[in-house]
Amino acid sequence: MFENKPGVLILMSGPSGAGKSTICTPLLEAEDKLNFSVSCTTRSPRDGEIDGTHYHFIDKATFEEKIKIGDFLEWAEVHGNYYGTLKSEVEEKILAGNDVLLDIDVQGAMQIKRMLSEQKEKEPSKFSLFDSIIYVFVTPPSFEELKQRLESRGTETAESLQKRLANAQAEMDQQLDYDFLIVNDDLEKAKADLKSILNAARCRTSLLKFI
Ligand code: ADP
Ligand code: 5GP
Repeated sequence: MFENKPGVLILMSGPSGAGKSTICTPLLEAEDKLNFSVSCTTRSPRDGEIDGTHYHFIDKATFEEKIKIGDFLEWAEVHGNYYGTLKSEVEEKILAGNDVLLDIDVQGAMQIKRMLSEQKEKEPSKFSLFDSIIYVFVTPPSFEELKQRLESRGTETAESLQKRLANAQAEMDQQLDYDFLIVNDDLEKAKADLKSILNAARCRTSLLKFI
């Protein structure tokens, strides 16, 4: 039944250091149907990050060329670097019935939300990502804990750490614009919450209305 059912698009945001990667990674490993959308970025790779797996690491000129030719679903400047979601990582996969997870900042999330609402208004009876997307925000239990996590991760220069902490409050001010909030205090609970959200999203009737 419902063989042509499209996939679910999980859009996840949260301040740097909230634990997004830590929560997502085991779910991505456990769920064959769930694909991580590999973003493009102009920031340098951290130790252990693999080009094409964690990000497509590209220079500014290449990023600007991709903006020009319309390769991105959204893009934004975050903590002083460019980040963008490739259309090719999302649209065909969802239509083919695979689920996709996006880890993007609040500016990118709100761009996608506006764009999908406008599209839906124009063509209400056609399936679009609007029908598939779920917005999830991951927040740390406190600002102090966020600072400690970012420091102990040991990936940032003093300058980058300051930028990330300075941006965190503004990002957290937008958490109520999301459908679900995960408070990442107890890691096991946060992972279970994300799994529950994915399971519930897979049962949404909005996925079935236009097939
Ligand atoms: P993000 O992807 O949101 O930037 P990370 O997943 O890299 O954040 O997590 C930041 C740091 O916090 C990592 O060192 C990670 O091991 C740690 N961390 C994540 N979740 C928890 C948690 N629930 N309790 C304690 N430390 C955590
Ligand atoms: P990091 O440098 O820690 O990997 O990511 C920094 C921030 O960039 C995070 O808030 C992350 O969600 C965001 N980010 C990662 N990829 C994208 C993307 O494709 N688009 C946007 N807008 N933000 C992204």
